[in-house]
Amino acid sequence: MESSGTLYIVATPIGNVADISERARQTLAEVDRILAEDTRTTRKLLEHYGIKTPCDAVHDHNERDKVSLIAQWLQSGQNLALVSDAGTPLISDPGYHVVSSLRQQGFHIVPIPGPSALTAALSVCGLATDRFCFEGFLSSKSAGRRQRLSLLAREKRTLVFYEAPHRLLASIEDMSEIFGPEREASLCRELTKTFETIWTGPLSQLAAFVGADTNQQRGEAVILVAGEASASKQDSLSQDDEHLLEILVAELPLKKASVLAAKYTGKAKQAFYQYGLSLSGDDAG
Ligand code: SAM
Repeated sequence: MESSGTLYIVATPIGNVADISERARQTLAEVDRILAEDTRTTRKLLEHYGIKTPCDAVHDHNERDKVSLIAQWLQSGQNLALVSDAGTPLISDPGYHVVSSLRQQGFHIVPIPGPSALTAALSVCGLATDRFCFEGFLSSKSAGRRQRLSLLAREKRTLVFYEAPHRLLASIEDMSEIFGPEREASLCRELTKTFETIWTGPLSQLAAFVGADTNQQRGEAVILVAGEASASKQDSLSQDDEHLLEILVAELPLKKASVLAAKYTGKAKQAFYQYGLSLSGDDAG
């Protein structure tokens, strides 16, 4: 691979075109070819920087087929840059198959780090950042989304989700129901752009804020949710408590079963509700 070219994985701005590193600009200007998720989007960005490097489309639908051609270009000594429409390639964006396959083949692959909505949102949301888990996009279907959220209900690390505008409110409402209305969360919307909004507070209030203002349901958004706090006495269920809920939920919808179990034991109804969800892994009513 001595005489082969290098593949640069280049982060580009997530909104504000000034958010590009000197090294990213230089790399995009100097490589022989840019592999772009959408060549029209990338050409517009390049025009802004006065860069004329030719672009070639590499996206979700063709990246598996393109790997051998990209390998040939590198073998012939060409240097290449891979970019996505915005932010860091491979972070909920194409490029995984290209990088994984070319790395296995021993090619030289170099990161040119820069913007990502993930790190930008974490850096300003005010929730814990020492440990977090990136969940990317939830399922576009309500049942799949709720099932995934139920599995994450006991996660202690800060959760980070990307979400499409038309599903934003429904997702936040589901989070409020499944994680509990008091759980702290943050909406980081249109980061680095004119209508940037960063709102942090309990999930129920976030749902009300987004529901009351359709402008908040537009544009690009990251939702972050605090991890589950260490269980308090009120929240931790004994084996007897769990057994009680199992009996009740066999006869009643989960919401009703949780209220009755909470009344009987003095424990938090949310703790029963979350335990019930974990039993079915889905919406149990
Ligand atoms: N690769 C990109 C990155 O590094 O962030 C993410 C690409 S993914 C297809 C697009 C999603 O990222 C959007 O739906 C939104 O959730 C998030 N996103 C991208 N730009 C954003 C911005 N300026 N503000 C808030 N979220 C953004």
